[in-house]
Amino acid sequence: MTIHSVLKKHFGYDHFRSGQEQLIEAILQGKDVLGIMPTGAGKSICFQVPATLMPGITLVISPLISLMKDQVETLLQVGIPAAFINSSLTYRQTELALENARNGTYKIIYVAPERLLVPEFLQFAQSSPISMLTVDEAHCISQWGQDFRPSYARIPEFIAALPQRPVVSAFTATATPRVREDIASLLQLQNPEQLITGFDRENLYFEVQSPQNKMSALTAFLENKKEKSGIVYCSTRSTVESVCDALNDKGFSASRYHAGLSDRERRKNQDDFLYDRVQIMVATNAFGMGIDKSNVSFVVHYNMPKDIESYYQEAGRAGRDGSLADCLLLYSKQDYGMNLWMIENAKKSESSDPDTEELIKERDKKRLRDMTFYCNTGSCLRGFILKYFGEKPPQHCNNCGNCHTKLETIDITIDAQKILSCVARMRGHYGADVVADVLLGQPSETISELGLEKLSTYGIWDKDRHALDTTIEYLLQMDCLVKNSNAALGLGPAAKEVLTGGTTLHRKVEQETLPTPDAKDPGSAALSALDQQLLSKLTQLRQQIAGSQNVPAYVVFSNQTLSDMCRQKPLTQRQFLQISGVGEMKLWRYGKPFLALLQEDAVERKKNPSADTDSADKPSSSRSKSKRKEESLLPLAELADSPEQNNLLSQIALSEEPIGISQFAKSINSVFSEHGYEKISAIHLSDRLLAAGLLQIPPQSETQNKEPTQLGEKVGMIQEERSKPDGTTYRINLYPPHLQRLIVNHLPSLFKGTAIEWEKADKAGAFTG
Ligand code: ADP
Repeated sequence: MTIHSVLKKHFGYDHFRSGQEQLIEAILQGKDVLGIMPTGAGKSICFQVPATLMPGITLVISPLISLMKDQVETLLQVGIPAAFINSSLTYRQTELALENARNGTYKIIYVAPERLLVPEFLQFAQSSPISMLTVDEAHCISQWGQDFRPSYARIPEFIAALPQRPVVSAFTATATPRVREDIASLLQLQNPEQLITGFDRENLYFEVQSPQNKMSALTAFLENKKEKSGIVYCSTRSTVESVCDALNDKGFSASRYHAGLSDRERRKNQDDFLYDRVQIMVATNAFGMGIDKSNVSFVVHYNMPKDIESYYQEAGRAGRDGSLADCLLLYSKQDYGMNLWMIENAKKSESSDPDTEELIKERDKKRLRDMTFYCNTGSCLRGFILKYFGEKPPQHCNNCGNCHTKLETIDITIDAQKILSCVARMRGHYGADVVADVLLGQPSETISELGLEKLSTYGIWDKDRHALDTTIEYLLQMDCLVKNSNAALGLGPAAKEVLTGGTTLHRKVEQETLPTPDAKDPGSAALSALDQQLLSKLTQLRQQIAGSQNVPAYVVFSNQTLSDMCRQKPLTQRQFLQISGVGEMKLWRYGKPFLALLQEDAVERKKNPSADTDSADKPSSSRSKSKRKEESLLPLAELADSPEQNNLLSQIALSEEPIGISQFAKSINSVFSEHGYEKISAIHLSDRLLAAGLLQIPPQSETQNKEPTQLGEKVGMIQEERSKPDGTTYRINLYPPHLQRLIVNHLPSLFKGTAIEWEKADKAGAFTG
């Protein structure tokens, strides 16, 4: 078997993604590898594909035991024998798993790092053919990473204890050079093949908002995410509780996850989310490492996280299956202070000395500053992140909040000077609120008691309070202002330069919002209303099957795979295998029910071709690209009985003379296409008139031209003979004004395929136009 056939047979994919093939080939040549790829890039396949081709067992070290079960389930679903060994198993279950493993039952075994040096496990490993040791989430070995795990440090000891050194492959999404070096040296990788793929996740839309009211911003955002799965990260347990309660009160389906809950509740809530029993998970950053749920459509950060590494990792949990997904960060000035407090008050690690502690603190503060700059930058957000990870950023990605919103950079030096001189005059004794009241000239008891209205800076602020608050916050971030332990404002190290005019300060403000650009992800192109219905049926079927097998829905098929089914509409097993994400095993397991549903859908469409105008013309597989684009428009049939029906129909400008079908179709399109309905071609319109009995193709016709039926003539259709320049003649059907009105009035029914009583309608006064 080749690596390509393994990819197709088991995983149902036709192509490797960038970097996957290179790492797999290296592993198969016996080389160590270090793969640094963003979340969702497809790291698992890099070790799972070679694992199936190597002679012995692959051990995968993974830090989160709670997720091993799902990973193993996913492998079993695609026909790769796998198991996990961790503390969730009983002694007997572990014994049994090891016995099976000894007998060569499994190709891949997931194991928790703590387990490696446990005598029973070590003994098993020493007496079994271990071909590869894979270290997932390898950054856990580095103290410089965000998730240091001491048990990872003992991996080299385990490797050394094996009779033969296996290939060692390590994977992480953390890209900073320091962590990368740590992984290679601490794991003692031997001349590894290193691969750092691009960190860009094109299907993710990044946005930062600084709303006055975060809850309102969140609910407004979620209103557009009905039935979609997503995570809302909060920085503290109490925020998780209040946000989760508020969302449930507002009728959203939300669950919660944080370290203060019992293990049982955490597991239950996590499962509810993974199995799509709840839509939204509100959680602290304790939730998510190794979460494989591929159909997460959005990640909202209710608070700014502590650094870009954490942000990108958490946000990256959206859109893992390649579908378009949103990453929204709701920033407020308190977020900076909260994170700073956490850094200052972080629990000291027993193993590090005071110098290292100080170093780590400084590092964390620098990271926090970078995170804050991200929230305040006026330039491309994707560009900012990529630059942070050492990649060449685009000027504009056209797929982030900042590229959509035209931002203007304004000079705020004068505003800054007003604030700084006010703070200087208040001699560092007062907090931001009092400083703001003085600048705004806001009379209060405190101000008159302290005589602050006598200051020359009293009332010199000429903008609103929000602008003042955000400028003060900005000056804090720029080190022009500092807060002492009593939260009083004082001048910071960078203040002097600004006060003396030695430096100017600039800040972004919104100018206008640009229209949303086209989706970059062709796989997620918009579906027509009918295809949406099909998608929803497929999703229900997936949920049913997942429920009966007690596995998460995405383990059955990813969202991307279901969307692909909607577009391709496979009707045979062979066609089903062409769907991205369908391998032989999945075809065997699920082909039958899914194909039955797709076939039923095809029959429905045939019965009612007017509702699916595209497929009436051509078989679905041969649809052209431009047709697909049209599918996102509403079919004309949808207009029937809609509230806008009469309004739109009355806007169609009719000709006062008899006209041909092309001109007729044009005047109809001029109104409908403006209102989001599909355009109709002249041929399409005449096909509908044929189906409705006004036109016919005479049995002996050589030209297949359509002619009026008796009924057509009765309601006023005219045939006229015309001459071409070469002298030959042809016949054309003409639609006089009253017939135009009659047809226009019945357009929705015409396209819906409902029978029309033309003569009756004609007599009843359609002749109104
Ligand atoms: P990571 O571990 O890097 O975060 P995963 O290994 O979980 O990412 O993969 C993310 C998703 O991408 C999964 O749904 C996986 O099946 C899919 N995937 C991986 N490789 C490919 C590929 N070559 N073609 C299509 N989809 C892929």
